[in-house]
Amino acid sequence: MEITPVSGSIRRRYAVIVATALFVGFASVAQADDSVTARAHYLGNAGVMVEHGATRILFDPLFREDFDDYELVPPEMQRALLAGAAPWDGVDAVFVSHYHDDHYDPALMVAYLKAHPGIRMYAPAQAVERLHAAASPADGGMFERVHGLALAYGDASIRIEMDSLLIEALFVPHSGWPGSNTEVENLAFRVTLDGAATVTHLGDADGDVVHFAGSAEHWEQRRTHLALPPYWFLYGSDKGSLLLQDLNADHATGIHVPKSVSDDPSARPAALQGIDLFTRPGESRDIP
Ligand SMILES: [Zn+2]
Repeated sequence: MEITPVSGSIRRRYAVIVATALFVGFASVAQADDSVTARAHYLGNAGVMVEHGATRILFDPLFREDFDDYELVPPEMQRALLAGAAPWDGVDAVFVSHYHDDHYDPALMVAYLKAHPGIRMYAPAQAVERLHAAASPADGGMFERVHGLALAYGDASIRIEMDSLLIEALFVPHSGWPGSNTEVENLAFRVTLDGAATVTHLGDADGDVVHFAGSAEHWEQRRTHLALPPYWFLYGSDKGSLLLQDLNADHATGIHVPKSVSDDPSARPAALQGIDLFTRPGESRDIP
């Protein structure tokens, strides 16, 4: 897939957004309410909705490509999501990990953001550039709610606080590093809802522990209650427990799981035994 570089003017615009985000990031965190249960709902491939009370966020929800290997969002679920019908109503923000067709369809995202003028989007600058390409000049006002984050490997994480969400984004290279996909801007989003529930979505992050050792300060700053890594992070139980330590996480549920992996944990290959995976759209998990 061809990805054109971000232009200078767009880069400057993102730099302003990033500077603003860093400034507002020092505001106070919302008070936690422990009586409300947080829950993660699986949409398909790397698509997940997380809710805590009335606060709702989406990760990688709108895509069209399954590469004959991954779960698409079922058509009825996608229609309801685009329409904002329950339980997909009241979404506050949507996060895109990276621009690959099995995670993100810019045209679908334009339609979604136009239909729901209260929803904000956070994504790598590269993914936002594709949104501009998919939008028409009349959609220009929509981009006030679209936050392109310009991050590269080795950069400090970005922190943004808005209403009920504390958003922290870190560049983690795409799977295949350092041999392939190095042109892809892949972000790990750690999002805290209502100051109470923290989830981390890793996109298509590469599983080499060197990336997490190199950003240990970021991970130590905040405990993740539920990590949503691509399933290859969890291959073999030792690696799964190492991941929880590296990410400072209580629990991990693997996503981006091939359709060939059984719903029945006991029927899975040995390397996928004893780990938690989202395998079918519509599944959900309470977040402790
Ligand atoms: Zn990818």
